[in-house]
Amino acid sequence: MSSNISKHPCPRCCKLTNCVTIRSHKIHWDDEDAPISGWDEYSILQCMGCETNFFLHEEWFSEWQDSDPDDPPVTTKIYFPKIEKKKAGSLSFDIFVTDEYAVKSLHDEIYKAINNDMPQLAAAGIRTLIDRFAVSITGKNQNFEKNIGYLCDKGHISIDQLGMLTTILDVGHSVVHRSNVPRMEDVETCLRIIELLMVLVNDGPEVAARIKSRIPERTK
Ligand SMILES: [Zn+2]
Repeated sequence: MSSNISKHPCPRCCKLTNCVTIRSHKIHWDDEDAPISGWDEYSILQCMGCETNFFLHEEWFSEWQDSDPDDPPVTTKIYFPKIEKKKAGSLSFDIFVTDEYAVKSLHDEIYKAINNDMPQLAAAGIRTLIDRFAVSITGKNQNFEKNIGYLCDKGHISIDQLGMLTTILDVGHSVVHRSNVPRMEDVETCLRIIELLMVLVNDGPEVAARIKSRIPERTK
């Protein structure tokens, strides 16, 4: 393999592909007062499959490196654009009459936070998403806990599901009020649960009615 061909995550193919380095620029630095050094390298890459061009910033810092000189350089790599781990758009909001934009735009922003490894922003966003969704369904707006309580009072969710929403709300509360940095895997699980509930509450009755209308009646 040619020296200017290496494997990188192509943002269009969404997997590791062989890429050509079109151009790169490397900047070395040394500290005058301390025995530390490093470099930054900026590269334009082109996927050899789909020919998409993308950008890589690779960074090395001497303090990250073990003392064994035979070890490969320990670097961090930041790609732009990066492969999106998750994509929004799997939800249907067609039934919403009010607050569609408020719910949908926030839902999209939560995906952006997750795709950019921002669990705190995503968790705080999910807390607000639950609230906006509850208010849009029930039309009642007092506070986070009461708003999801109304969903249960009106029969949209069960008591067990209310318990789940309360836990997910508390993840967001802990970020906002207790400086908690939740694990990204927990944040993604919270989002999956609220999405399932949103589809169930929002679309479930209409979908069930539509299916029911297509079932032939029993003949005696
Ligand atoms: Zn590609």
